[in-house]
Amino acid sequence: MGIIRQLLTGRRHPSSSHHSPPPSPPPPHALDTLPSLPHPRRPLTPTPPHPQHLTSPFFRLPPELRQIIYRLVLTHPSPHTEIHIDMRYTAASTSTPHSTAGATLASHRSWRWRASNCHRHPSSPALADRCGWGGPPPTACALFPDTPCAVGREVLGLLLCCRAAYREAVQVLYAENTFHVSTGAVVLYTDRLLPAERAGAVTSLVYRVTEDMAWHYAAEHLGLVPGLPAYAAMLVRVPGAFPGLRRLLVVVQGLLAVRGLLERGVRFGGREPPDRDATRVCMLSSMDAVARSFAVRGRPLDECVLALGAAAFDDVMEGEREKAEREEVREGEWVQFWHPVRAVVRAGGEEVQTGYWVRRVAPEETSGLTLDFEAVALALPP
Ligand SMILES: [Zn+2]
Ligand SMILES: [Zn+2]
Repeated sequence: MGIIRQLLTGRRHPSSSHHSPPPSPPPPHALDTLPSLPHPRRPLTPTPPHPQHLTSPFFRLPPELRQIIYRLVLTHPSPHTEIHIDMRYTAASTSTPHSTAGATLASHRSWRWRASNCHRHPSSPALADRCGWGGPPPTACALFPDTPCAVGREVLGLLLCCRAAYREAVQVLYAENTFHVSTGAVVLYTDRLLPAERAGAVTSLVYRVTEDMAWHYAAEHLGLVPGLPAYAAMLVRVPGAFPGLRRLLVVVQGLLAVRGLLERGVRFGGREPPDRDATRVCMLSSMDAVARSFAVRGRPLDECVLALGAAAFDDVMEGEREKAEREEVREGEWVQFWHPVRAVVRAGGEEVQTGYWVRRVAPEETSGLTLDFEAVALALPP
């Protein structure tokens, strides 16, 4: 009996040992090991007295021409490229950016950077993006075989080979591309993970909030109360994390479909289904806070969208849509309603109108995802 218990629990029964080792301290919380940029940061190596780059034909080109070349390299395919950056707490390290092929498992989880170009066809909605998933299949690489799969070597190569090129080009990289983030750490702890001038340069962000992130891992990885409180906490951090944004697309993945599954009798890890009204209020109020935050600084976002899959949208947003005064349709792809937000600019008490679109992405645009999600739910033990 003692041996079986030991096998099951990894612990010895107290009576089976007279010399039990002292209890080990509790393992550190994931956040205790989250990396931090060094303070002060190591400066770029000073330029030597006879800088090598001045002899290069490239640096004899006029600066405007060099900027055009940087754009061609760093924002390819023009006018901008989509880049995934994420800090994940995981034991898996992958050599392929968008799948589990070649993945190895370490004995402990640790924080790992994952960065890659986006492997999604440009015409597909962000909700269909699978780059950050790794698995299960179909992977991004399999779904979009006609677009190139890249890890951004060309970007890093250019920036790392020459400090003069780095100085001139790094702003193009951050300011003129779209960044995808799909974990909470990069948004909640931006100041520990990215230099302020880089995060501040980002103008276009796709923030994907997954069910996993808000429900499964919020407490364990990020010290947040799981569920809607975690969702809200991550959302309202966006303006502080990326203060220079002009365009924000928040993509909610899974989250609400789970409730539909529960109603159909599928049990999902024993969790309580989120309440429909509470979910809607939480999503709208946190998005309101984001839109308002940019507006009160005098720079309302040029484009702000909250995108949901069709099932999730129909579940919680349909009533809101009926009340909306403005609606836009892109046939076969999405329909969206305008959610106005009023903001008071503190200096002078002047009121500004801002707001965002709440988008229903058509089911056929995300069918692969929906099916997979159900499969995952069904595979869970009752
Ligand atoms: Zn992608
Ligand atoms: Zn790929």
